[in-house]
Amino acid sequence: MKAGRREFLKLSLAASSAALFPVPTFAQGAAPRVVVVGGGFAGASCARALRQANPRIAVTLVETSATFTACPLSNAVIGGVRELSAQQFTYERVAADGIVVARGTATAVDAQARLVTLADGVRLPYDRLVLAPGIEIRWGALPGYDEAAASQMPHAWRAGEQTMLLRRQLEAMDDGGLVVISAPANPFRCPPGPYERASLIAHYLKAKKPKSKLIVLDAKDAFSKQRLFQAAWAELYPGLLEWVPLSKGGNVTSVDAATRMLVTDFGRHQAKVANVIPPQKAGRIAEVAGVADRSGWCPIDPMTLESKLQAGIHVIGDAAIAGAMPKSAFAANSQAKVCAAAVAALVRGGTPPVPKLINTCYSLVAPDYGISVAGVYHPAGGQLADVPGAGGVSPADAPRAARAAEAALAEAWFRTIAAEVFG
Ligand SMILES: Cc1cc2nc3c(=O)[nH]c(=O)nc-3n(C[C@H](O)[C@H](O)[C@H](O)COP(=O)(O)OP(=O)(O)OC[C@H]3O[C@@H](n4cnc5c(N)ncnc54)[C@H](O)[C@@H]3O)c2cc1C
Repeated sequence: MKAGRREFLKLSLAASSAALFPVPTFAQGAAPRVVVVGGGFAGASCARALRQANPRIAVTLVETSATFTACPLSNAVIGGVRELSAQQFTYERVAADGIVVARGTATAVDAQARLVTLADGVRLPYDRLVLAPGIEIRWGALPGYDEAAASQMPHAWRAGEQTMLLRRQLEAMDDGGLVVISAPANPFRCPPGPYERASLIAHYLKAKKPKSKLIVLDAKDAFSKQRLFQAAWAELYPGLLEWVPLSKGGNVTSVDAATRMLVTDFGRHQAKVANVIPPQKAGRIAEVAGVADRSGWCPIDPMTLESKLQAGIHVIGDAAIAGAMPKSAFAANSQAKVCAAAVAALVRGGTPPVPKLINTCYSLVAPDYGISVAGVYHPAGGQLADVPGAGGVSPADAPRAARAAEAALAEAWFRTIAAEVFG
């Protein structure tokens, strides 16, 4: 190519990004093509919402696994009160909506050519790309914690084999053993998740191994629904469950998988069972596509969930920096619908609607004891911000019947979202 032409191309590319990502319109020509990478709560929801918004859009969903294993309620599997099969879903109904489900792993994205490449070499052109890859563990960020260590000290932060490994380790432990959970600093997938897990492991120990002890070593001094969790722990698991905050020596600085040792600035904890929930970042393809920033997560426009770093690529779910929204399945599903509406508008040359998003996170402190936090979010100040006064947590002084009703709601929510996304 001659230098002049190369300069012209460079200039036109610069001009097009300066014009805030202009999009082609498809009033009469070929059907717009949208590729969605990741068939979890965010990606599968978005693929289906896109088809509902406009059946003319050709939607391809790229997903590594034939079966999706859901994290919400997987702590109940670890606590022995639920089976893993209740967490598993296939993509048959998604495909029945007319979505092409491409089984494989996306390994490369050419944002200029608008092309996704899969591990087997298949190339998928797109007009808009939605990345919904969930999380990746930051292997090595916690010294001693690598993929081999996870087979001794499971994280169980992506549901499936790891969930069952942790459950089996608890079942194999003698009564009187020490269980240690290490919880990471913010941000991470499912802010109340470590504390729900602690609760349901304590529930198991109380019933089956009452001489045992559970310690939560935390890299933070505060956590989601803290007052509600701590009040419930005092009532249900006195003397069994101890939470150690950052300021009291909770920050785990290294681990030794061979001896199941967790080291903090203040001392060492020799565990019989150790659940290390390590630092995380956006799923690998986000970095490959150039949509992750130095934090490891993906900055997005709160109106359209389009990447602030790459034109034509939207990022939803745990991988996104979604302002005040937590990294939850409920939030991922909410973002998916907003993204689908925005993409459907953009590909026809329209203006995306101004979104409002919702999140509710239920946590089980025991199988019949539920608590929740809810929030409403809107674009403000360049990010997704809380709508003041629109959210809140379960009341502190609710009677046990209300806690039981919230536990039932947690199950009902899961059944509803699973049916919407996969059923
Ligand atoms: C213990 C625990 C309990 C939780 N409880 C709750 C709860 O009660 N309520 C709640 O709302 N949330 C809960 N969550 C959080 C919830 O699981 C996540 O927020 C949610 O799964 C995020 O959805 P996602 O689509 O972004 O990611 P995921 O659901 O993880 O989906 C990502 C998908 O992308 C696929 N993928 C990744 N990279 C590629 C690639 N390159 N090519 C192809 N496919 C790819 C993966 O295989 C995966 O299927 C919990 C999480 C944990 C760990």
